[in-house]
Amino acid sequence: MKLDHIVVRYGELALKGKNRSHFEKLLLANIRQVLKPFKDVKAKRIQGRIIIQLNEEKYEPIKEALTSVFGIYSFSLALKVENELDAIQQGALYLLQQQNDVKTFKVSARRANKTFHVNSQELNHLVGGFILKNMEETLKVDVHNPDVDITVDVRELATYITGGAVQGAKGLPVGASGRVLHLLSGGIDSPVAAHMLMGRGSEVEMLHFHSPPYTNERAKQKVLDLTKQLTKYGSTIKVHLVPFTDIQTHIHKEVPSNYEMTIMRRMMMRIADQVAEQRGILAISNGESLGQVASQTLESMNTINEVTTLPVLRPLLAVDKEATIAHAKKIGTYSLSILPYEDCCTIFLPTDSKTKPKRKGAAKFEQYVEVEMKCQEAVASIETIEITASTNESELEMLF
Ligand code: ATP
Ligand code: MG
Repeated sequence: MKLDHIVVRYGELALKGKNRSHFEKLLLANIRQVLKPFKDVKAKRIQGRIIIQLNEEKYEPIKEALTSVFGIYSFSLALKVENELDAIQQGALYLLQQQNDVKTFKVSARRANKTFHVNSQELNHLVGGFILKNMEETLKVDVHNPDVDITVDVRELATYITGGAVQGAKGLPVGASGRVLHLLSGGIDSPVAAHMLMGRGSEVEMLHFHSPPYTNERAKQKVLDLTKQLTKYGSTIKVHLVPFTDIQTHIHKEVPSNYEMTIMRRMMMRIADQVAEQRGILAISNGESLGQVASQTLESMNTINEVTTLPVLRPLLAVDKEATIAHAKKIGTYSLSILPYEDCCTIFLPTDSKTKPKRKGAAKFEQYVEVEMKCQEAVASIETIEITASTNESELEMLF
């Protein structure tokens, strides 16, 4: 006997009625994506569950990979046996014998396959009784607070027996809520905001502005590495790299310094709007948090938002920096984010940015900027890279 399967359960998905099958397929595809590096592993959908077959691959790294995938409620290492009482009893006993320091247990049977001749209640007794008979000296039943809860899940073609579950990332599978165009910098906040959106089922496409030679290749690499880290949570991610040098130098030359930041942000937003339109994306998102810096006041957001009619989602709007940092550490983006490479926003950074820029003021100074043409040129020069969980270091380097 061998514990060589994993049973995956999904929570919130169950609430989604008609879309259920679509979501299940998405979750399966996302799971397959993160398990690609484990060549022999197979994942398939059975009614109400996803079953992963380990085929000699080690459990621990797979466990680690699965914990990150959004849409998984919990999962368990499982023993797969025939739909026969004797096999189920032997299996449950074997599973308990594999565990150390267990004094109490209970059996929770579930008969999804109604053609199986023993119902759930009877199964609880028959399996529990069998275990007690064989391990009477060391084990007791405790239905309220057992050391191990042995679940017996009788499905159409086989029964899966598990002892304890690992919590999943919960949320919705990436892709279930459509696509969002996310403004990704190399900072701490925007990767966290992207992760939060992914958790609600958004597939994110990244838009990153860079200004070579003022920003270097390593700054670009950082953004790709951050994106790679985010693919762990359930999908491939496209990164659209926008050359921004020309626009920035142009603004720097033509616009009074206290409006530079606002107009630069409006240009970013216009470009995002056009890219979203081209790609059939319905919303833009960023890592802004209210009051954090000069460009993140309500006045500033109001003035910057004027140039798009798309919703601009700000998952971190009301989140403290401390909580954002903790989140970044948890998802593995923090150590990358703090690498000290220049972001395009910090070059030519004026020290006298208006904290309350007006729409009228911005429009007035934009007369000196060739807004339409500059945006079109930038959009036409975008370079797009697709990153998957299995894109390796050398492939990332070859992209340049
Ligand atoms: P972050 O840590 O995400 O950079 P921040 O607190 O440093 O955020 P800003 O630098 O003012 O704030 O940027 C606000 C938001 O604007 C970012 O969260 C990001 O969504 C977007 N942004 C800033 N710089 C860029 C860039 N070079 N490319 C794409 N988006 C950017
Ligand atoms: Mg920043």
